[in-house]
Amino acid sequence: MKLPAFIVANWKMFKTRAQAREFVEAFRRETAGLAGRVRLGLCPPFTALDAVHGALAGSDIVLGAQDMHWEGEGAFTGAIAPGMLVEAGCTHVIIGHSERRRLFGDSDEVVNKKLKAAVQAGLTPIVCVGETLTERDAGRTEQVIWSQLTYGLEGLAPDLVRKFGVAYEPVWAIGTGRIATPEQAQEVHAFIRAFLRKTGADPVDPVIPILYGGSVKADNIAALLRVADVDGGLVGGASLDPKSFAALARAAAEARGS
Ligand code: PEP
Repeated sequence: MKLPAFIVANWKMFKTRAQAREFVEAFRRETAGLAGRVRLGLCPPFTALDAVHGALAGSDIVLGAQDMHWEGEGAFTGAIAPGMLVEAGCTHVIIGHSERRRLFGDSDEVVNKKLKAAVQAGLTPIVCVGETLTERDAGRTEQVIWSQLTYGLEGLAPDLVRKFGVAYEPVWAIGTGRIATPEQAQEVHAFIRAFLRKTGADPVDPVIPILYGGSVKADNIAALLRVADVDGGLVGGASLDPKSFAALARAAAEARGS
């Protein structure tokens, strides 16, 4: 039987501390009956991390950041170090989101440095990969994913990668309302799984959760989770409202029959 799905909220640049606290209170009420049936994570903006950490006390919902710098400290104006995330209560961190790659210039080399720094700090990275529409239309999806994984994970020992999460987020599906079909998602997830298996990071009984991201909602998560290699979701827009994100979490628990 498959493990419970892992559903992670990426709030991007939304929510003040007060709004974040309010969300957590409502979300915990809404998901009270789901303990053990679905794994849940919240990735608020940096400024709300400690507020969310406090509001999550006693819950098994994990806290993650949306990005970090790779250095431990230094003259990097505006950046946040891995240790600062740990201090704020994070156990997870999203690395290489397509918005970071596209808008902030995070190359595979930068992603690689961040992944190494995250594991060194004891954080579990969720590394994002995905192709643009132009790349998909040109038949280059697997090549792009291969390259992002090969250079992103370079120099990381398989036993470290084993602790990661991976998110497949086709860029054309993020925030567009256009979602990959379960078959399209499965095709790429199977490719990622095979890559991780070949490197020795993901054993035959898989341990690395591969999440799908891109316009995931309460009414489409179940179909995605029914395919073999989709282990959860990374959710942007549909994670901002506690009731609809709780509905998504419920649908994920039910889809797994857990
Ligand atoms: C994301 O930003 O990771 C994401 C998947 O966004 P959305 O769910 O809004 O498409």
